[in-house]
Amino acid sequence: MIRCVSCGAEYDDDEVIYTCEKCGSVLELVSDIDVSKDVFDGRKDNLWKFKECIPVDETKIVSLDEGGTPFCKCDKLGDELGVNLYVKVEGSNPTGSFKDRGMTVGMTKAMELGVNTVGCASTGNTSASLAAYAARAGLRCIVFLPSGKVALGKLAQAMFHGAEVMSINGNFDEALEAMTALALEKHLYLLNSINPYRLEGQKTIGYEILRDLGWQAPDRIILPVGNAGNISAIWKGVSEFYNAGFVKDLPMMTGIQAEGACPVTNAFKKGDKRVVPVENPETIATAIRIGAPVSDIKALNAIYDSNGYSETVSDEEILDAQKLLARTEGIGVEPASAASIAGLKKLVGEGVIDKGETITCVVTGHLLKDPNTAIEACTKPTEVDADIDTLRKLLMDE
Ligand SMILES: *Cc1c(COP(=O)(O)O)cnc(C)c1O
Ligand SMILES: [Zn+2]
Repeated sequence: MIRCVSCGAEYDDDEVIYTCEKCGSVLELVSDIDVSKDVFDGRKDNLWKFKECIPVDETKIVSLDEGGTPFCKCDKLGDELGVNLYVKVEGSNPTGSFKDRGMTVGMTKAMELGVNTVGCASTGNTSASLAAYAARAGLRCIVFLPSGKVALGKLAQAMFHGAEVMSINGNFDEALEAMTALALEKHLYLLNSINPYRLEGQKTIGYEILRDLGWQAPDRIILPVGNAGNISAIWKGVSEFYNAGFVKDLPMMTGIQAEGACPVTNAFKKGDKRVVPVENPETIATAIRIGAPVSDIKALNAIYDSNGYSETVSDEEILDAQKLLARTEGIGVEPASAASIAGLKKLVGEGVIDKGETITCVVTGHLLKDPNTAIEACTKPTEVDADIDTLRKLLMDE
């Protein structure tokens, strides 16, 4: 069953519907977990090991073996900050971001519904993922990208997997509005995160974090927030496993935004239930360069209900954290992902996070998604001949 998160109106699972017909609010899938957690044991460690908890037809699954991502204990960084730190590395998914979790479920639903065209607006990663899964499913794929604001790796993926790419003269919010209008005219099936099936996939990040910690909740899950689907999905996941009795506690959901694109943090700091959109969002972390997040209600509920928090970080703090994570722990992430680490640092500094807390930072996308930003952050390699004396002098004499 699909239910409106605001007015409670109910819709059938097979209705192609993105927002509530009665009040315009966002929708969610409602399902009960009626299995024991032992059924997951011994299965291949990917998203579909949780298939009993994902409300789609398992004979129609379109998968690239997503999920089951690394969960790295980061003692060097954790000790420096005085917390017990784990990093969930979502860049290890097939196309290099957590979007694959949403897309495997969304594309499976598309097959169930028998659609022939799928589409999305994207800051980059959604389009990369959709293009790959549409190729695998054999469906036509249309993507709208904000012109000039998509990181190189993501653009390469969307184009190379054969999507029809439109470079929209406008920002993400405007591209999404246009794509949604076409979806409502039924020209295509919309696979942005307003589609509640996307979040059914992404909630497995929450499942896995609990499982990875030996069926315990961390004190806190920290992640970057853009369109605000992922924080909502992870909260849904941990809540489902909590309600099923698989764990005894729930984590505090902590959403980090860039200073130039922070409607959720603004709303949180005022105690509001809805955001006031940011007109011209700007940040180097292009994946979270979003001014009007569609899942704002769900995300703010997640933060309030979990006794969580939201904070902003500057682009400089993001880039510093990206380098810190890469150089102290060997984990390479794109700028948006580093917002979680930058947020952790800032909130420890502010005393919001207590010493000794067990923290899971979700790092959402791979370093290679945005090679230009990575290269600009480094000093150029030294040009030198392959002469041993020169090299010895350069490397050993200092
Ligand atoms: C999509 C994305 C985000 C933002 O997730 P939302 O669900 O839109 O809040 C953050 N980081 C990366 C790398 C992403 O691709
Ligand atoms: Zn409603």
